[in-house]
Amino acid sequence: MKFCEKCGKEIDDNAVVCPGCGASTAVKASPVTTAESENPKMARMAMGFAFLLPIVGIILGIIGLKKYSDPKLKKQCIIAIPVAIVAWIVWIFIMRGF
Ligand SMILES: [Zn+2]
Repeated sequence: MKFCEKCGKEIDDNAVVCPGCGASTAVKASPVTTAESENPKMARMAMGFAFLLPIVGIILGIIGLKKYSDPKLKKQCIIAIPVAIVAWIVWIFIMRGF
């Protein structure tokens, strides 16, 4: 048994529409869809900042890593951290006039 997202009425697992309000039940069927609804903004920002402002990229990467449950977004944050560290080192060399 599952429940209608709109009216909360108990509906059959195989039902395509809610018998109570007629809302589609297929929209949010699996937990995968729930994970995908997570806001990917911070993961993208972490990646963007990793090159421009590495310190911000690292911070966002760490926050995102703790915040996200979606493995795709987690992966982006995991990638952003070492990228930011490498970019940071590059920036240090540039600042030194290397
Ligand atoms: Zn309903």
